[in-house]
Amino acid sequence: MTDLLDLPWTEGRADVSPREYVDACLRAIEARDEKVHAFLHVNADADAAALPIAIKDNIVARNMPTTCGSQILRDFVSPFDATVVERLRASGASIVGKTNLDEFAMGSSTEHSAFGPARNPWDLSRVAGGSSGGSAAAVAARMVPAALGSETGGSVRQPAALCGVVGFKPTYGRVSRWGLVAFASGLDQIGVVTKTVRDCAEVFGIIAGHDPRDSTSSTHDVDDYAADVSAGVKGLRFGIVREAVEQLGGEVRANFDAAVDVLRRGGAIIEEASVPSIGYAIAIYYIVANAEASANLSRFDGVRYGHRSERARTLDEVYFDSRGEGFGAEVKRRIMLGTFALSSGYYDAYYGRAQRVRAKLRHEFEEAFRSFDYLVTPTSPEAAFPIGAKTEDPLAMYLNDVFTAPANLVGTPAIAVPSGFNAEGLPLSLQIMGPHFGERALFRAAGFFENETGYWKKAPLST
Ligand code: GLN
Repeated sequence: MTDLLDLPWTEGRADVSPREYVDACLRAIEARDEKVHAFLHVNADADAAALPIAIKDNIVARNMPTTCGSQILRDFVSPFDATVVERLRASGASIVGKTNLDEFAMGSSTEHSAFGPARNPWDLSRVAGGSSGGSAAAVAARMVPAALGSETGGSVRQPAALCGVVGFKPTYGRVSRWGLVAFASGLDQIGVVTKTVRDCAEVFGIIAGHDPRDSTSSTHDVDDYAADVSAGVKGLRFGIVREAVEQLGGEVRANFDAAVDVLRRGGAIIEEASVPSIGYAIAIYYIVANAEASANLSRFDGVRYGHRSERARTLDEVYFDSRGEGFGAEVKRRIMLGTFALSSGYYDAYYGRAQRVRAKLRHEFEEAFRSFDYLVTPTSPEAAFPIGAKTEDPLAMYLNDVFTAPANLVGTPAIAVPSGFNAEGLPLSLQIMGPHFGERALFRAAGFFENETGYWKKAPLST
């Protein structure tokens, strides 16, 4: 008999009572999370609901902790719900827990969590990806049917890829960030992790929409996102981003080529596309994101909320010591880099120039989407790496975002869908990108691919 949590949410919810569904999740968490460490907080009193869902721990939910994976917020309990949480609850969802993440969503492995890393359910000695590693691992390990994550440079898609689940980032502005702790406000967006594309489209439909409390949120109409998941790809035009894949070899390349063949056999038109500046995405991203982070994180000062140093005697010491004790090494590195990029004398050379190249990249994407309905790349340049392999080498860690960061910089939607396994049995993933507000079409292409391949049906064994 198939376990309830092996089923897609849209099927499983029909078979059981809301109470049974939530209890099944709580039992699965109890049984598996000691090994996986996907959760920082479990809501043992979760209400019965047809949608048990986990929320990344940088999104607030009333009366629950929101730590952002940081010592500086370790005792913070939110007095209010984020808009996405409000919307989920209004549609009958229940929050079963808060998921592990890199501190303030800064990282690609969840190893920068102050509370210890999440582990990859396919191989517990490997990373779950990041920064929404807890959300991806929770879904992959069949502890919840769905989870929310956040994206600044790939933090939903990359961990989804490494954990073999669907990860989706909407158009910038499509989902309210009210109640999401800000990292880089010009990039941040809340995304969805599920086992299947249909589940993803449905959960996204619940959280999408305008919110007057987030001035960047769009008034664009919300679509019926799951409407075309079975419509196929015949005649649709897919561009392989040449500059992204030309230097790619090995198992990731072979897997990507095979994935493209699946689309081709479905009647899609496949051609090469060119986005000449895509190779600058990592450089632009780490200037823009760190600059904005250095400003956003200035609010954690030991005065307004968060950790306050006990040894501080003067006001200056309150700032220095609270931040010194509360933030981890990666967060400090980003604040330093971001402050440097914004300092007078360097502003134009770094932040100004990065914004200009970013505008060029946006223009190139717009051009490419004149000829193509979709652009495709692998989601991640490699499968899940061993825990500890990159923690001493920040640049190696940053390079993990090479295929995901462009969509954040440009503000377009993108989805990661499982595309098979490497020789070691670790998941690989196809990334499909679409134009602004092209979400419905994105779910169409991803739905076709999933339906042809069915990789989501395989569950990790090591849990
Ligand atoms: N891995 C990227 C970083 O470290 C992206 C993070 C994110 O999307 N939140 O900044």
